[in-house]
Amino acid sequence: MSNQTSDWVARSLQSVWHPCTQMQHHESTPLIPVSHGRGPWLYDQDGRRYLDAISSWWVNLFGHANPRINAALREQLDKLEHAMLAGFTHEPVIELSERLSALTDRRLGHAFYASDGASAVEIALKMSFHSWRNRGQADKQEFVCLQGSYHGETIGALAVTDVALFKDAYGPLLRAAQTVRSPDARQARDGETAQDVARRAAADVERLFAEKADRIAAIIVEPLVQCAAGMAMHDPLYLQLVRALCDRYGVHLILDEIAVGCGRTGTFFACEQAGIWPDFVTLSKGISGGYLPLSVVLTTDEVYQAFYSADVTRGFLHSHSYTGNPLACRAALATLDIFAQDDVLAANRAKAERITAALAPLRAHPRVRHFRQQGMIWAFDAEGVDKAFARRFFANATQNELLLRPIGATVYLMPPYILDDGDIALLAERTLAVFEQTIAG
Ligand SMILES: *Cc1c(COP(=O)(O)O)cnc(C)c1O
Repeated sequence: MSNQTSDWVARSLQSVWHPCTQMQHHESTPLIPVSHGRGPWLYDQDGRRYLDAISSWWVNLFGHANPRINAALREQLDKLEHAMLAGFTHEPVIELSERLSALTDRRLGHAFYASDGASAVEIALKMSFHSWRNRGQADKQEFVCLQGSYHGETIGALAVTDVALFKDAYGPLLRAAQTVRSPDARQARDGETAQDVARRAAADVERLFAEKADRIAAIIVEPLVQCAAGMAMHDPLYLQLVRALCDRYGVHLILDEIAVGCGRTGTFFACEQAGIWPDFVTLSKGISGGYLPLSVVLTTDEVYQAFYSADVTRGFLHSHSYTGNPLACRAALATLDIFAQDDVLAANRAKAERITAALAPLRAHPRVRHFRQQGMIWAFDAEGVDKAFARRFFANATQNELLLRPIGATVYLMPPYILDDGDIALLAERTLAVFEQTIAG
């Protein structure tokens, strides 16, 4: 470690409180000071490189220092860095809203902006509740989430998050939500298909709706892949069944596409694979290409009209200082341009096949269980490993030029969409080597 690196590490540990981190662990696990990024690679202060195989917490789609996004931002910077969005509007936010609406086939034609995913989730929850109240159904105040759900960590979002570690710590602060069973295909019993699991999970929703739909505002679901739960994947049939139940019982469907949206599962929106649209969709993470904090809630004209009135109190009461920030919207527009110009969804289908083929030796490993893939997400569960597996794997990965952070015993890859064949070969070989090194102890 160079002197400059150890200086950065010491100063960071003194003054920066790192997210989701037991800071004492850094007495044994080194902190890595990033100096710059290029494409799928991050470089540290000492010139070592790391293949960013998890897209820096799932946000980076087209690589670091992407020339096209950089150019768009430079141009925007000279025009307008920010203006408040109450009483004012600007081109980037208009254009982005129109293009997102078009991507939903104009089903979700109204866009409300915030800066992070958790805020988008809370906006969708508040909007759902308030729209029911404006329509005279003020008793609809409860929310339903799935087992293992993750929708963010602020207090409102945490209320619909079912992660034991967080629930145990902050449970007393939260408003209780109803939890229904997950459609996770790994729960298939002998002879069952993923669709059977989906039907069983939907039946649980129906039981709950039949009992108390008059008090339920919305159910929130992360479609196709419950990412933070350990890349738990389910059949699209589940989404069709839940959509039908929401229609029948008068409950809003919120699809949280913060992680699975923006092409991650193979289509721009994951819900396209089920052929359904929700009442609300949340996007963040990849929407700005991993450049700037931006989130958005898209909703229907029906919800929008429930607020449209001369009365202030019937309006949606919510704002953030940086709502609709022009730079972030411009980064999102540049990201959507890349999707269109490079036909990214089609290119990803071919790329995903090459990555799956390269991972064949790992998939065949005797300690690998439930190898699974959806779009540009790969995951498997390591069998017979202890609690320290994830941290050891992460440390071994960094020694092998990889940035990979397992969730418990689940190892996953969620790379940016720009890996070339050399990157793919390196990623597959090193992931296998790191896995073998880590299970060897
Ligand atoms: C990351 C994530 C969030 C929260 O987003 P933040 O920007 O971290 O607040 C919410 N939902 C899902 C599905 C996510 O993956």
